[in-house]
Amino acid sequence: MGKIKAKIKAEKLWMNGKLIDWHDPKAYTHVISYTLHYGIGVFEGLRAYETHDGNSIIFRLEDHIKRFFESAKMEDLNIPFFKSDICNACIEVVKANKLTSGYIRPLSFIGESKMGLGHNKNDTKTTIMAWPWDSYLGDEGLKNGIRLKTSSWTKCRNMAMTKSKSVSNYGLSNRTKMEAIKAGYDEALLLDDNGLVAEASAENIFFVKDGKIITPPPSAPILIGITRNSIIDIATWEEYEIIERNFTREELYTADEVFLTGTAAELAPVREIDTQIIGNGKPGPTTLNLQKKFFNILRGKNGFYKDWLTHIY
Ligand code: PMP
Repeated sequence: MGKIKAKIKAEKLWMNGKLIDWHDPKAYTHVISYTLHYGIGVFEGLRAYETHDGNSIIFRLEDHIKRFFESAKMEDLNIPFFKSDICNACIEVVKANKLTSGYIRPLSFIGESKMGLGHNKNDTKTTIMAWPWDSYLGDEGLKNGIRLKTSSWTKCRNMAMTKSKSVSNYGLSNRTKMEAIKAGYDEALLLDDNGLVAEASAENIFFVKDGKIITPPPSAPILIGITRNSIIDIATWEEYEIIERNFTREELYTADEVFLTGTAAELAPVREIDTQIIGNGKPGPTTLNLQKKFFNILRGKNGFYKDWLTHIY
């Protein structure tokens, strides 16, 4: 292997129905593989959490795997397993790596059957990896808020399948993230082809104004985040008024609070956008309340949401 050392390592991964060692030759793929050249493939991102009573759970396992299969359907890929096989395999991988918490990454990609555009939908390899992973935008970001920059790139309708977690979508996400980081920010905000707010490079966005919580509607070019949907449910139960509607970035500049949601990022307050300070520059009461409620659910402290948790051990 080259001089750049792999930063992510685990003991085992799941490949096409079997647990294998992380460095097993079967875990490597040939350079002629279709996905490497043309970016057609789909993946998921889930998290396992250690609960307050010493157990471990996977958050919304079945919902993530349902989306995994729907992404594959949209990209015309055949995953030759049942959803229940993939759910069980996620649990197996966490166990095999002796994790109590961490990130889980199912991926389905296309192998070596052909070159030239137009893939063979049955030439798929499906793998599941898991490793320990801290909150994506950092503990400091979770506590004090992150800085967001509007990207010079646009998230256009009908140029990508935004409802699918397709490998190819992450070319744009990566480009916007790099641009934001190089400019000294933490994360990128993407506008759609009408100049309306869509989502961050790997998170959905919400803002709070005059006691109401607003987020773009499902018809916006966004991934329908499982964390997004969870926060909408929690906020509804908490009797906040939630509105799904389009908005411009000026509305974010004058918002009382802004926050991002995603499996990797969890629920991260936003303290600044494009040099504009949001609210008083600190996470606001609604954000902190929802963050606390959400983290309590993830740690099994709220029995009301136990259907969202799958026990691992
Ligand atoms: N939008 C994009 C583009 C993403 O990659 C993600 C992360 N999966 C999200 C939103 C948030 O989705 P979820 O809450 O399901 O992780």
